[in-house]
Amino acid sequence: MAVDLTRPYDANNVFAKILRREIPVEILYEDDFALAFPDITPQAAIHVLIIPKGAYVSASDFGASASDLEIAGYARAISNVATQLGLQEAGYRLISNAGPDAGQEVPHYHVHLLAGEKLSAKLI
Ligand code: IMP
Repeated sequence: MAVDLTRPYDANNVFAKILRREIPVEILYEDDFALAFPDITPQAAIHVLIIPKGAYVSASDFGASASDLEIAGYARAISNVATQLGLQEAGYRLISNAGPDAGQEVPHYHVHLLAGEKLSAKLI
C-alpha cells in the first residue's frame, strides 16, 4: 500500500525493524547517520537502499525535521556508499519515492542507489 504522507512515523515499518536488527539484512555500510543494504527486489545489477537512522517518513519529513548534522551525515553516507561500491567512474542513479504518486511503499525515508549496468527508462 502506498505511503500516506499525512500520517505520523510508524515505528513498525520494515526499515525501522531492520534498524533495530529485528529483520536481518546484509549490511553494506553503516555509520552514525545511515545504514545501507541490498534491496530485496533488485531493479538493477546493483540496487542498494540507503536509509537514515532517524525516524523520518519521507524526504519532506527529513528535510523539515532532521538536524543539519543528520542531513549532512546522510548526504555524506550516500557518497561513501557509492565510493565503497567503486562507482565513481561508471556512475549510478539515486531515486527517492515520496508518497502515493511516486509509489512509496515503505514509510521510512530512503534513497535507492541503482548501478552496475546501463540504466534504462530515464524519467528526467
Ligand atoms: P519504495 O517503493 O521507494 O518505498 O521502496 C521500498 C523498497 O524496499 C522496495 O524496492 C522493496 O523491494 C524494498 N524492501 C522491502 N522490504 C525489504 C527488506 O526486508 N529488505 C530489503 N529491501 C526491502
